[in-house]
Amino acid sequence: MSRPGSEERPLRVAIVGAGPSGFYAAEHLQERTDLVALIDMYDRLPTPFGLVRGGVAPDHQKIKSVTRVYDRIATHSHFRFFGNVEFGRDVTDADLADHYHAAIYATGARTDRRMGIPGEELAGSHPATEFVGWYNAHPDFHDARFDLSGAHVVIVGNGNVAIDIARILASPPELLAETDIADEALAALRASRVRTITVLGRRGPAQAAFTAKELKGLASVPDTDVVVEAGALAADLGGAGEGDARTLELLRELADRTRVGAAREIHLRFLASPVEILGAERVERLVVAENELYEGSRGRLRARPTGRYETIPADLVLRAIGYRGVALPGVPFDEAHGVIPNAGGRMLDGVDGRPIPGEYVVGWIKRGPQGIIGTNKPDAQETVEALLEDLTAGHLREPYRPAPAAVEELLRRRKPDYVTYEDWQIIDAMERQRGAESGRARRKFTRVEEMLDALAERKDSIEAADEALETAEVPERPG
Ligand code: NAP
Repeated sequence: MSRPGSEERPLRVAIVGAGPSGFYAAEHLQERTDLVALIDMYDRLPTPFGLVRGGVAPDHQKIKSVTRVYDRIATHSHFRFFGNVEFGRDVTDADLADHYHAAIYATGARTDRRMGIPGEELAGSHPATEFVGWYNAHPDFHDARFDLSGAHVVIVGNGNVAIDIARILASPPELLAETDIADEALAALRASRVRTITVLGRRGPAQAAFTAKELKGLASVPDTDVVVEAGALAADLGGAGEGDARTLELLRELADRTRVGAAREIHLRFLASPVEILGAERVERLVVAENELYEGSRGRLRARPTGRYETIPADLVLRAIGYRGVALPGVPFDEAHGVIPNAGGRMLDGVDGRPIPGEYVVGWIKRGPQGIIGTNKPDAQETVEALLEDLTAGHLREPYRPAPAAVEELLRRRKPDYVTYEDWQIIDAMERQRGAESGRARRKFTRVEEMLDALAERKDSIEAADEALETAEVPERPG
C-alpha cells in the first residue's frame, strides 16, 4: 500500500490536548507542503488553549493573544476540534489506533507537587494549581474557595507561578476588573484583607526560578512595597556565579528601596523552607527552617537546614512548587518524573523501553513542567520530525477506519454533546460579549453545563434566525 500523506490517502493524526504544545504540533504538520495530514484535536474541556486560557494570569492579556495563532491553525480546512471529549472515557487509545496513523499526546501537567510536611492537609493550605485554576475560571475549580479574610499569605516556591499569585493577590482589584479574571475570584479579591504576602525560596536569589520580566512586573504593582532582605542577597552573591544577571540586579535594587508604607507588602525571603504548618482547625502559622547551600550531585547547589527555625503568621499557605503530569488510561507513565516515557517525542513502552509505533508526546507531559509557551515550538518540532521520519520509514500503524466521518460517527454514539471549533467560536463570542457589557476583556463561563446550555440556546436562536431568513417573503420590486 502507498505511504499515507497524499490527497487520496491523507495522513490521519490525533492530537490529545488543545494547549500550546498540541497546537504547535499541528502547525508543524500543516507547514509541510509535501504532505496532506488531516488532524483531529481532542480536549476534555469544551474550550481550547490549555494553560493559555487556564494558567496564564488574567492581567497578562498580551500573552493570551497568542491564541490568534492557534485560531489560524484551527481554522485550516484539514483540522477539526473535538472538545468536551475525555480521553480514556469517551475515546480510548484503542479507538485512536482504529482511526489514526499516529496519536500525539499533549496533555500537559495538570496536578500539583506536594511538600510532604505536617499540616499540609489543613484547611487554608492549597496547591497553586487550584488557586490559578480558580482565578482563571477553570471548570475543575469552580467550587474552590480561598479565605482571604486574614492578613498573612505565604507562598512557597520561587518560580513564575509564585510571582503570578503574589501579583494577583497584591494588585488593586480595579485593575483586575478589566481582565478576564473569574467573577468569583474578583469578588473575593475585592473583599480581601490580605496585607502581607511572603514568598519563600528554599535556595538563594541566584537559584530563583522566576524570570527578571516577571519580577519587574511584581515590583511595579501599585501601592505595594516589595521587600528583599539584603542579608541573603549579599551572602548568595559571593557564591558560584550562578543566576540571571538582570534578576539579581533587580533584587539588589529592591533590597535598597525604602518602604513607603504601602497598603500591601510582598516579602521575598530566600534560604527558607517550610517544615510544618500549625493550626487547630485551619492554617494559623508556619514553621520555617533557615537553610544553607551545599554542592550536591552534578554540581547543583542544594539547600539544607542550618538548625535555626522561626514561626511566622500564615492565614493562607499556597504551594507553588511545580506542576505534575497525570497518567492517562492505557498509556505508559513514568511515575518518578510525572511524564510519558519518550525518546525525543517517540513514546516508549513502559516494559521493554522500545518506541511504540504511531504514539508520540509533546509539551509538559513529554519534558516535565518547564519552560514558557514558546518553548513548546521547538519541542513540538522535534516530535513532528520523529513522526515524519517514522512515516518515511513505514513505521506508523495502519488504522482500519481512517475515514474522517468514522470519528464523527463514533462520537455521536459516545459523546453526542462534543464541541466543534465553530461551537467554541460561538462560546468565545458570547464570553467577549458578556465582558464588553461590563467593561471587561471577557467574562468566562465557569461551569461546563453552563457553557453547553448557553451554546445550545445560541445555536437554536442562530438556526431560528436562519430559518426566518429563508422563509421570509421577498417583497416584489416596484415597477
Ligand atoms: P518552577 O519554575 O519549576 O518553580 C518551582 C519552584 O518551586 C522552584 O523555585 C523550586 O525550587 C521550588 N520548589 C520545588 N519543590 C520545593 C519544595 N519542596 N519546597 C520549597 N520549594 C520547592 O515552576 P512553576 O513556577 O510552577 O512554573 C512552571 C513553568 O511555567 C516554568 O517554566 C515557568 O517559567 C512557567 N511560567 C511562566 C510564566 C510567565 O512567563 N509569565 C508564568 C507562570 C509559569 P528549586 O529551584 O530549589 O527546586
